[in-house]
Amino acid sequence: MAHCVVPAAEAILDKEYKVLDKGFVRLVDYMGGDDRIVQAARVSYGAGTKSYREDAGLIDYLLRHEHTSPFEQVILTFHVKLPIFVARQWIRHRTARVNEVSGRYSIMKDEFYVPAPADLALQSEDNKQGRRDEALDEALAGKVTAVLKSGQRRAYEDYAALVDQGLAREIARVNLPLSLYSEWYWQIDLHNLFRFLSLRLDAHAQKEIRLYAQAMLEITRAVAPCATESFERHSLNGVRFSGAEMAELKRRLALGMDEAARGGGLARGAAAAAAAGGTAGRGSADGSPAAIGGCLLKGKELERFEEKLRTGRQL
Ligand SMILES: Cc1cc2nc3c(=O)[nH]c(=O)nc-3n(C[C@H](O)[C@H](O)[C@H](O)COP(=O)(O)OP(=O)(O)OC[C@H]3O[C@@H](n4cnc5c(N)ncnc54)[C@H](O)[C@@H]3O)c2cc1C
Repeated sequence: MAHCVVPAAEAILDKEYKVLDKGFVRLVDYMGGDDRIVQAARVSYGAGTKSYREDAGLIDYLLRHEHTSPFEQVILTFHVKLPIFVARQWIRHRTARVNEVSGRYSIMKDEFYVPAPADLALQSEDNKQGRRDEALDEALAGKVTAVLKSGQRRAYEDYAALVDQGLAREIARVNLPLSLYSEWYWQIDLHNLFRFLSLRLDAHAQKEIRLYAQAMLEITRAVAPCATESFERHSLNGVRFSGAEMAELKRRLALGMDEAARGGGLARGAAAAAAAGGTAGRGSADGSPAAIGGCLLKGKELERFEEKLRTGRQL
């Protein structure tokens, strides 16, 4: 089959997905979808299209086994309007093709990102790269917003005055702040888009770029729903375990299953092991899985493992 038309993607072409106060993402164009992935994967042995279930199964298999090249046959082109500090993070994804508005040719627009009060927070103490969960109180948020806006206004007025005096645009712009909005066309294949999404949807990524990634995930679902579902299932919402963590997981499951068969739980298993006086009972008074028997992990490694199990996040 030649050109693939995906009705759900056609329906959202050019639709603006609003992000932040003045930004957006829109799908300009796409090439291929789930069908293209399947065709590309089957080309090697010339088999035709199979049922939807078989195709979805094949896509899921390819994704699980990191057979990535069929996903590279699908291309998406986005038009994005974003503050420069978001663009700085975004541009690190080297596998895309980018064309950005030029501040050398064009007069930059008087458009700056002003965070909503709910997004203004103090520096986090445990996460050096992030902010606290609690927003500033209203009075402080108002003061911060006023500082941000007056800095933006002053910078833009100076820029406009320098341009009016005939200074070259490429020099007049150099004092414009990171909150200034820019725009670009950003084209990427589906395999590398999934990589971008998994990094930029992660809770470690800055909220502002995460919001763009969320809009792009929604668009990607329209273009390649099966592939995106597999990506969400295995990559985005999946967690990797090290060899040692897997061994500990197996140990806990074996312990739990053993107890379940006897009608007990892990806590009861701890008590039973303690009563038996074997090594399995040592230090197990709290009945937690780590405390029962010889836990295979220690210290930070154990903390990380427990946190992964609790939150379902890759750590
Ligand atoms: C939460 C977070 C915090 C970050 N903090 C910082 C920071 O403090 N400072 C900083 O500098 N960066 C930071 N980064 C950027 C980060 O280090 C990566 O540069 C960025 O995420 C791009 O990842 P990538 O290289 O996998 O993506 P891409 O450039 O899109 O590459 C995708 C994949 O293609 C392959 N690839 C691409 N180019 C090459 C190449 N030239 N050679 C070999 N393989 C290649 C690699 O397998 C790569 O994983 C941060 C990123 C995140 C998500």
